[in-house]
Amino acid sequence: MDPISPLEQALHAARALVLADLVAGRVAEADVVSLVEESVTQRRWWVEQWPEGAQYVAGLVAQDVQDALLERYGRWPLCPVCGTGDPHALDVEPELGPDPHWVCSEAGVKVAAVGSLGEAIGGAGASS
Ligand SMILES: [Zn+2]
Repeated sequence: MDPISPLEQALHAARALVLADLVAGRVAEADVVSLVEESVTQRRWWVEQWPEGAQYVAGLVAQDVQDALLERYGRWPLCPVCGTGDPHALDVEPELGPDPHWVCSEAGVKVAAVGSLGEAIGGAGASS
């Protein structure tokens, strides 16, 4: 058998990163995990058509899961930075690019890399 292809590595990494953020937000229930699997399956097809997009997969899976959760559960992940005002979700930036981060568009700050949301929620705040 061939070793794991870079494409599969990227998909595995994307899955692990988004799951880590779901765990951090305490929403990693079985049906939520299946949303991640669904997204990874769709993105596998997508990245097979466009292998150069492998480095974008983590950001795309994060956005897929975010959209799916919005329909079923509500906003995710909630912004841990802004203590006041209406609760709002973080956005993934870049929407299509490598090294995706969660950002708060209200405060205009990078909150955490995708996969490191737990540090932003649980650890000392890295604001301003
Ligand atoms: Zn915010």
